[in-house]
Amino acid sequence: MLSDLHIGGLTPLTTTDYPGCLAAVVFCQGCPWRCGYCHNPHLLPRTVPAQLSWHAVRSFLERRRGLLDAVVFSGGEPTLQTALVDAARQVRELGFKVGLHTAGMYPSRLKRLLPLFDWVGLDIKAPFAGYEKITGARGSGEKAFASARLVLESGIDYEFRTTVSPNLFSNEDLLRLAQTLAERGVQKYSLQECRPSGRDDHRFLEDASDAYSRDLLYAKIGRLFSRFTLRRA
Ligand code: SF4
Repeated sequence: MLSDLHIGGLTPLTTTDYPGCLAAVVFCQGCPWRCGYCHNPHLLPRTVPAQLSWHAVRSFLERRRGLLDAVVFSGGEPTLQTALVDAARQVRELGFKVGLHTAGMYPSRLKRLLPLFDWVGLDIKAPFAGYEKITGARGSGEKAFASARLVLESGIDYEFRTTVSPNLFSNEDLLRLAQTLAERGVQKYSLQECRPSGRDDHRFLEDASDAYSRDLLYAKIGRLFSRFTLRRA
C-alpha cells in the first residue's frame, strides 16, 4: 500500500540529482548496507518514525506541476520498499519524469521496477572483489554488478557513480574499475568525492581531487566514457 511508503525526508528542489532536470528528491527510509562513508546515516534504520506521509508528498507535487521536471526516489535504499512501485506510477501520472538512486542491492526487484522509471543513478561502490569491505554486506558485489547488467540491458537512461577517496582506492584500483565498467558497455559514469559522512568516519574525508592526478581522472578515465563527470565534495 502506498501509505506504507516510509519516507525519511524531501528536498523540494535540486538541479544535481537528475541530470538536466529540476527535480524534487524523496528520501526513502531504510538500508541494510553499512558503507563507512554513508552521508545519510539517519536514513539507514527501518524502524524510525516517518518524517512525511506519501499523502503530504503527493500534495506537494500537485502544487509543483509545471515547475518541476522530475522526481527522484533516493535513500537509504528505495528498492527496499514494495510501495515504491505505486509511488513511481503516481509520480508519472502527475506528469513528472521519475528517477531512482539505488545501490542495486535487489536485482530482481530492480528488473521489475525499471519500466516505471525514466532514469537510474546506480552506485558502483568498488571493484567486484572489494565490495564487502565498503558495504559490510556479504554478496553485495554480485548484486550490484547484476543490477548494472540489468540497467545496461534495459535501455533506460542512466549514470553509474563511484564515490572515491584515496583511502578506498589507489590510482590503479580506480583505473581498473573504470576499465571494467567501460568493457561492460558503460557510457555514462561519474566519480564523486567523499563528503563528510555524519558518521564521524574521518578516514574517508581526504580530498580525492588532490590525491588523484588530473591525468588519471580526465585523460585515462574520462576518455573511456562518452559522458564523464567529476563531482567535487
Ligand atoms: S548503500 Fe547507500 S544508503 Fe546504504 S549505507 Fe551505503 S551509501 Fe548509505
